[in-house]
Amino acid sequence: MTDRIREFLRNRRDDGPCVVVDLEVVRENYFAFARALPDTRVFYAVKANPASELLHLLAKLGSCFDCASVAEIEMGLAAGATADRISFGNTIKKERDIARALELGVRLFAVDCQAEVEKIERAKLLTGAKGVKVFCRILCDGAGAEWPLSRKFGCVPEMATDVLEHAHRRGLEAYGVSFHVGSQQGNVNSWDSALASASAIFRECATRGINLSMVNLGGGFPTKYLKNVPGVPRYGDAIFRALSKHFGNQLPETIIEPGRGMVGNAGIIEAEVVLISKKSDEDTARWVYLDIGKFGGLAETMDESIRYPIRTRHDGADMGPCVLAGPTCDSADVMYEKVPYMLPFSLEIGDKVLIEGTGAYTTTYSAVAFNGFPPLKQYTI
Ligand SMILES: *Cc1c(COP(=O)(O)O)cnc(C)c1O
Repeated sequence: MTDRIREFLRNRRDDGPCVVVDLEVVRENYFAFARALPDTRVFYAVKANPASELLHLLAKLGSCFDCASVAEIEMGLAAGATADRISFGNTIKKERDIARALELGVRLFAVDCQAEVEKIERAKLLTGAKGVKVFCRILCDGAGAEWPLSRKFGCVPEMATDVLEHAHRRGLEAYGVSFHVGSQQGNVNSWDSALASASAIFRECATRGINLSMVNLGGGFPTKYLKNVPGVPRYGDAIFRALSKHFGNQLPETIIEPGRGMVGNAGIIEAEVVLISKKSDEDTARWVYLDIGKFGGLAETMDESIRYPIRTRHDGADMGPCVLAGPTCDSADVMYEKVPYMLPFSLEIGDKVLIEGTGAYTTTYSAVAFNGFPPLKQYTI
C-alpha cells in the first residue's frame, strides 16, 4: 500500500469495488527490470493490464509491448510505441489478424507449428510486407510456477528446429526461440533448462545454415502475495548465469515479457464485506462474502492458485478461518475454501477490505455484467 493509494482511497466517492494502480510503482518496476537485465529489451505483456495511462508511461520509458491480438497492438500504438517495438506474441492467430498486424507495421511474430508459419507466409504475400521475423515457442513444464502456462503453447524443442527451417524456406526470417517458465515463478533457476534447449536449437539450426539471433525469455517474474518472493536482481543474475552457461561468449539478443512482475504490486483493490454468516451453529468457519469475486476480477483465485494478501481495519486482532466468496449467484464464485482464509473475528458486515497485489490480471479477467455486476473499475494515479 503506497501513501498515494491511501490518499486516493480516502477521497474517493464509494461506488463499488475498484482497483487503484500507482504508476510510480510501475516506473520503479520498469527500472528494476532494466537494471537487472541491462542488455535485454523489455516487452511488457499487455494482457496483464492494458490501462491506457500505464501503457503510455511504459512507452515513454522505452518499453516494447508483447501483444496477443490486433486490439492489443492498437493499444500499444496508441500509447506511442512504434510498430517495431511490438511483438505479436500469441501463437494462435487468425490469418486476417496477421495481415492486419503487418499492415500496421508489426514484423515480429510467435509461432509453434508449421501451419502458423504458413499463415504468416500467406499474409506476408498478401500485404507485400518485408523483413518478417518469426520466433518459435517451445514447451516448458512450468514447474515451480503458481499459474503454469504449460501445454497450450509451444512445441517440443526437437520440433522447433523444423518449424524454424520451414519459416526460413518460406521467406521469413527465422529469428529465434521463446518460452515461458510459468507465471508467478518462484524458482530463479527455472530458465536454465529452457535455455539449454534454446542453445541446442541454435546449434542445430546453424548446422542447417540458419543463424538464429534472439531468445525471448518470456515472463514469469513474480509479485509478492502472501509468500515472499526473490527480487528481480536475483532473477537477473540467475538468467545471466544460465545464458553464459549455455551460450558461452556468443550471447544471443534477448528480450523479456514481464506482465505480473511489472504491474502486480502496483495495484490494490478496495472491496466491501457484504455478508458474514455460518451454515450451521456448529460451523467452525465463517462465510465471508465480498462485493468482488471470481467474476469481478479475482479470476486467478481459480483452483485457489493465487492467494492475495487481504488487509482490514482489524489487522493484528485474533483471527479465525473463513470461506471467502464473491457476490454473484454462481456457486463457482467461491475463492478460498479448501484452504480457508484467516481473517479477524472482529471483521464486520460493511467493512472495507484491501486486496493487495492486484495490479495484474484483474480488470482484464472481470466479466462485463454477470449478474448485473459492472466490470471492475480502475483508477491509475
Ligand atoms: C502472459 C504472457 C506473459 C506475461 O507473463 P507474466 O507471468 O505475467 O510475466 C509473457 N509472455 C507471454 C507470451 C504471455 O502469454
